Amino acid sequence: MSAEPVAQPLAGFRRWGSRRGGLYSGIFVAGRFVPNPALSLVAPRIPPSPWPRDRAGPARCLAIRGHEAPYRDCLCGFYAYYTLPEEPDLPAPEAVWGAVVAWGRIVESEHGFRAQYARPVALLDCENPLDRRKTRRVARAAESYDIPLLERDELIAYAGWHGELCC
Ligand SMILES: [Zn+2]
Repeated sequence: MSAEPVAQPLAGFRRWGSRRGGLYSGIFVAGRFVPNPALSLVAPRIPPSPWPRDRAGPARCLAIRGHEAPYRDCLCGFYAYYTLPEEPDLPAPEAVWGAVVAWGRIVESEHGFRAQYARPVALLDCENPLDRRKTRRVARAAESYDIPLLERDELIAYAGWHGELCC
């Protein structure tokens, strides 16, 4: 089954690693943030790039046999969860949560979806106990992307204005 274009944008929630105001996809391993691990495997010399601040470009697949992202039997596309976890997990100082709006072709799964296009619309204003900076990373990222920093209930409502929430 292939990814189908959606008529209406979807809203979802996800975690990023924030560095110097940029929001990066990546993974968290043993308290450390590793941006774009798939990219560093195929192109170790290319520095990871943050999610764009202005115009959203389409997701790319880094699999050897490329295809248009998102693809059902792959992990490519911009990933988001349908719901914001009750207690969002902050496993490293760089970890931040927020809401995205997603559009284009979408692959849905049990807990979330992968989209062809997505952009952040707001970030979750919550204390990250590992982030000891005076200027919190989440506040810096919100300012850098020119998006609001909102508490949980406001964030969910705000996400719902930008796209369809699945729950
Ligand atoms: Zn792929």
